[in-house]
Amino acid sequence: MPKSRTVRDYIRTIVDFPHEGIMFRDVTTLFADARGFRMAIDQMLHPYAGMEIDKVVGLEARGFILGGAIAHQLSVGFVPIRKKGKLPGTTISQDYKLEYGEAIVEIHDDAIAPGERILLVDDLLATGGTAAAGIKLVERLGGEIVSCAFVIDLPDLGGRRLLEGMGMDVHALCA
Ligand code: 5GP
Repeated sequence: MPKSRTVRDYIRTIVDFPHEGIMFRDVTTLFADARGFRMAIDQMLHPYAGMEIDKVVGLEARGFILGGAIAHQLSVGFVPIRKKGKLPGTTISQDYKLEYGEAIVEIHDDAIAPGERILLVDDLLATGGTAAAGIKLVERLGGEIVSCAFVIDLPDLGGRRLLEGMGMDVHALCA
């Protein structure tokens, strides 16, 4: 009998994107497949059965696709964290380090009420810099991060260690 496909099987690797030497995990092939996408959303939700979650926060851009589907499934609201200059209302900002240089992410300052229980979602955890910046934004608004959910964790890059060191619960579907 043929082995059934796992989430990992729907993700392709693009060599030398966006720079030479980078093996880019392309999740568009996962999102484009009805079974793959549903499997990923169902598996990402699995650890949170019965847990109280008030909102899902998604990181630009693939965290919007996953986070939107997860929020819909949980019947809770969705809040985007975007790169600087993209959100129309009043925002707070957080900078973080990239491999070369720095980046800034933002959230609307009225998007989360103090004490709200937040699930943070993105497609991939590498160094953890992006997720850590997102966590800081949520916490600055008084939100409590219940957990961080990813499709892929690249453990050699230290992101999980960083987030767990911040006291975070981290879940990923594959490496
Ligand atoms: P980090 O901040 O953890 O180093 O990088 C994670 C962020 O960069 C995530 O927002 C993720 O979408 C993006 N990212 C970095 N490398 C890859 C990759 O190989 N594939 C995908 N899909 N996203 C990546």
